[in-house]
This record gives sequence, structure tokens and C-alpha cells, in this order.
Amino acid sequence: MAASAITESDLKGSLPLVARGKVRDLYAVDDQTLLFVASDRISAYDVIMQNGIPNKGALLNLLSAHWFAVLTDAIPDLRTHLVSLAIPSSVPKHIHPQLQNRSMQVRRLQIFPIEAIVRGYITGSAWKEYQKSGTVHGIKVPEGLRESEEFPGGAIYTPSTKAEAGKNDENIHPDAAAAIVGEKYAKRIEELALKLYKTAKSYAKERGIIIADTKFEFGLDPATDEIVLVDEVLTPDSSRFWPAASYAIGQGQDSFDKQFLRDWLTNSGLKGKEGVSMPEEIAKQTAEKYQEAFERLVGHKWADALTGKS
Ligand code: ATP
Ligand code: MG
Repeated sequence: MAASAITESDLKGSLPLVARGKVRDLYAVDDQTLLFVASDRISAYDVIMQNGIPNKGALLNLLSAHWFAVLTDAIPDLRTHLVSLAIPSSVPKHIHPQLQNRSMQVRRLQIFPIEAIVRGYITGSAWKEYQKSGTVHGIKVPEGLRESEEFPGGAIYTPSTKAEAGKNDENIHPDAAAAIVGEKYAKRIEELALKLYKTAKSYAKERGIIIADTKFEFGLDPATDEIVLVDEVLTPDSSRFWPAASYAIGQGQDSFDKQFLRDWLTNSGLKGKEGVSMPEEIAKQTAEKYQEAFERLVGHKWADALTGKS
């Protein structure tokens, strides 16, 4: 990866800034279109690290674009927010290097204020809850599951709230999510999230990766009342990716995602603290894990994808 990280984009007023999320900067292209810019910021436990990971934004952006293609292919009636990977013509040329590979134009939609998490395997906060209460997001699941075990009845839909900046997302029962988005959309969101997970799971499995869990976001197209897949999709920021070859039940797994960073934060007593800088070695190893996930899932060398050779 290149030497320096872009932790904040600056389009010099060529497009109005709409919002900065934890990772993305959103600009308005027109009334209906946003420029969705993935920075090199990385967050863990809902806190943004002080330093970034060079080209991480490009990796997330290109991987999401790949998944949009894979998923649309497999599910022809799927609607996604992706409009184009082109840089809008109103952005002057000297700013393009900031956006190259890391931006996409997307349809500007009203986002349902929940995170549609799907879990195929028990780990993370779900494993913690299960050990205490035998439930996952308040859902009763079979007794006797071991850490990292696949849910025997198939993947489960375990939504969370989508907290405002500075607050933590909270795991909730699907009934609570239905109360937030309304019954009318709740079932459709759940079904679509499960279908997307299932499709992605088998695609990734063929490439040696287990998608233990992932988080989707959805928007509503008010004109057609359709539910649209938005945000980033099936990236190492939004998912837990485990190497299938070393998968073993009853323990934590190696992973191609930010678990490595999370573990470092937890072990150094920095979990949830603001203003933390990652040591170079942690940033480097996290970058390598992200690249490994990209290369397996997309099937191209990361360096080639970045230089447009593939
Ligand atoms: P937060 O938004 O709470 O800061 P985050 O870390 O998920 O959290 P980012 O990923 O940095 O945020 O930013 C992306 C933001 O853009 C999210 O709030 C997401 O809901 C929103 N978003 C994604 N797709 C669209 C879309 N098509 N139209 C409008 N907003 C979108
Ligand atoms: Mg996000």
C-alpha cells in the first residue's frame, strides 16, 4: 500500500459536504445522488483510531463494488444504491487522486435506522450474550453451542440500533427492530438480509473464506416502495471473515478483518478509548488481513486492482 493514509477527504468546495461518518465522507452530487467516499479511517468498538490505514478506503470501495456485481448477478431483482464508480465531472482533475478507487456515486436514499446484522456462526457480542443468558439478541437459540459454532438451524437475523455519532450501536431483538422500521418493512428487510448472507456465504466459501457474520444497511426508494441495499457491503469492516482452512470450533478464529485490531485494543486496555493511535505493526498487519480478504474474494492481486491492471 502507498505510504500515507487519507483520513479526511477535501474536495475544496467542488461538491458540498453532506456528512462525515466514522469511515466515509458523503458529498452531494445532485438532489438524488451522493458521492460516497471511503477514507482510510478505521474504527473499532465505535471509536475512530487517530491514524489510518493507507488505501483501506479504496479496498473497501472496490470490494463493495465487486459484491454489488456478484449479488445482483445472483439475485436479479436486487436493487442497490450503486450508480457509478466514475468521478463526477464537477470535481477538478487535481482532486481526482483523492477519489480514485475510493469513491462511488450512489442514490441518495432514506436509510432505515437499523443495522441488519446476519450471523451464521456464534462469536463476538453474540457469544458473550449466549454464555450469560442462552440467547442471542434476546432470541432463544439451542443449548450447548460452542464458541464459533455454526447456528444449527441456519443463519439468524440479529439487528442492532444505528446509534448517532458518539453512541454505541445496541443489539436488539427483531421485534424491537420491527417497532423501529414498522412491520411493513421489517419482514422484507429480514428476508433480504438473510438471502444476501446466504448468497455471499456460498460465494466466499468457494474462495476459502467463512463469513461468520455481516452487517447490511437498507434504504427505501419512496417512488417504488422498494428496499434498496446501500452502504458498504460484505467488507472486512462490516463482516467477520475467517479462513476456512483453519476453522475450529470451541475457540476464537484467525480472521481477515479488524478482529486483530480489536484484540490489540482489548489486550492493551484501550478498548473504547478516544484518540488511540495504532502502532505501525498493528496497522500493517491489519492492512495485510484486509488485502488477503480482497484477493481471495475478488480473485485479483490487490496491487493490480489498485493500479487498474485488473
Ligand atoms: P455513522 O454513520 O453512525 O457515523 P458509520 O461508521 O457506519 O456510522 P460511515 O460508514 O462512515 O458511517 O458512513 C456511511 C454513512 O452513509 C452511514 O451513516 C450510512 O447509513 C449512510 N449511507 C449509506 N448509503 C447511503 C445512501 N445510499 N444514501 C444516504 N446515506 C447512505
Ligand atoms: Mg458504515
